[in-house]
Amino acid sequence: MPIDPTLPYDDTNIFAKILRGEIPAKKVYEDDWSFAFEDINPQAEVHTLVIPKGRYVSWDDFSAKASAEEIAGFVRAVGEVARAKGLVEPGYRLMANIGAHGGQEVPHLHVHIFGGQPLGAMIAPR
Ligand code: AMP
Repeated sequence: MPIDPTLPYDDTNIFAKILRGEIPAKKVYEDDWSFAFEDINPQAEVHTLVIPKGRYVSWDDFSAKASAEEIAGFVRAVGEVARAKGLVEPGYRLMANIGAHGGQEVPHLHVHIFGGQPLGAMIAPR
C-alpha cells in the first residue's frame, strides 16, 4: 500500500524501528547522518537502501526541511556506499520513490542503490 507523503512522520514505521535497533537489518554503512542496509527483497544483484537518521517521510519532506549538514551528509553517504560496493566503474542507479505514483511503501526517506548488473529500462513501459 503506497503511503501518503504529506502525513506527519510516523515513528512506528519499519525503518524507524531499524534505526532504533528494534528489528534487525544487514547494515552496510553508518555515520552521524545516515544508515545503509541491504534491501530485504532485492530487485538486483546489488540493492542497498540508504536512509537519513532524521525523521523525514520522503524526499519531499527532506529536501524542504533538512539542514544543509543533513543533506550534505546524506548525499555523501549514498556516494560512499556506492563506491564501497565497487559500483562506480560499472555504473549503478539511484531511486527515491515518493507517494502513490512513486510507489513509496515505507514512510521514511530511503534511496535505493541498484547495481551489479545491467539495469534495463528506466521505468516500466506504459
Ligand atoms: P519503497 O517502495 O521505495 O518504499 O521501498 C521500500 C523497500 O523497503 C522495498 O524495496 C522493501 O523490500 C524494503 N524493505 C521493507 N522492509 C524491509 C526491512 N525490514 N529490511 C530491509 N528492507 C526492507
